[in-house]
Amino acid sequence: MVNKEKYRAIIAELNPTKTTLVAVSKLKPAEDVKALYDLGQKDFGENYVQELVEKQAQLPSDIRWHFIGHLQSNKVKYIAPFVHLIHGVDSFGLLKEINKQAAKHNKVIPCLLQIHIAEEETKYGLDEKEAIELMEMFTAQQTQLANVRIDGLMGMASFSEDEEKVRAEFRNLKALFHILKQSYFLASDQFNTLSMGMSGDYNLAIEEGSTLVRIGSLLFGNR
Ligand SMILES: *Cc1c(COP(=O)(O)O)cnc(C)c1O
Repeated sequence: MVNKEKYRAIIAELNPTKTTLVAVSKLKPAEDVKALYDLGQKDFGENYVQELVEKQAQLPSDIRWHFIGHLQSNKVKYIAPFVHLIHGVDSFGLLKEINKQAAKHNKVIPCLLQIHIAEEETKYGLDEKEAIELMEMFTAQQTQLANVRIDGLMGMASFSEDEEKVRAEFRNLKALFHILKQSYFLASDQFNTLSMGMSGDYNLAIEEGSTLVRIGSLLFGNR
C-alpha cells in the first residue's frame, strides 16, 4: 500500500530545498511502484539485484533506477544496461567491474562512494582514509576508467534517537564530501550528490546538506 498523502507532503517539503527524492521500493510489489509513478515519481531505489531486474522489466522505461544496496561484482552485469546511479560503491575492484560492464553498453555509469558514518559495525562502506585511497587510485587510472563517474557520496547514519549524534554523523559525511570535492573535482561540477537521509532521519539530513534522500517505509509502509 502506498501512502499518497505522505508522498505529497514529502514532495511539498522537499521542493523548496531542491532535494531529490528516491522512493525506496525494496520488497514491495511492482504495483506499488506504479502507483507512485502515476503520481509523478521517477526515481526509485532498490537493494537486491534480482528484484530490481524483475521490476525494471515490468515497469515504465523512463523510471530512474537507483541501486542502493550492497553490490557484488559478479552481479553488476545484470543492472548495467539500465541503472541510473549506483550508490553503494565501496571498493576499487567494484568500480573497475562497473566500468567494464558499462563499456559493453557504451555508456557511463554514475556512482557514489558509500562511506561508513554510523557507529554500528554491520554497515558497509569506506572510512575517510579508504575513500581517499580509492580516489587516488581512481585518479591515477582515470583514462582506463572512462565508463564510470564518481558523482558524490552516500552514507547511512546510526539508527538512533539521539538527534545530535545523527547530525554529527551527517556533518562528518558532508565534511568529507567537501574535502574530496576540493582535492579531486575542482575543475568540474559533477561531484555534486550527497545521498543521506532515510524515513527516520531525512529532516536532519536535509538540514545538514543532503541533496538526495532515500525514503522507503514512510511511502510504502513497513517491510
Ligand atoms: C532500505 C533502505 C533505505 C530506506 O529505508 P526507510 O527507513 O524504509 O526509509 C534507504 N537507504 C538504504 C541504503 C536502504 O537500504
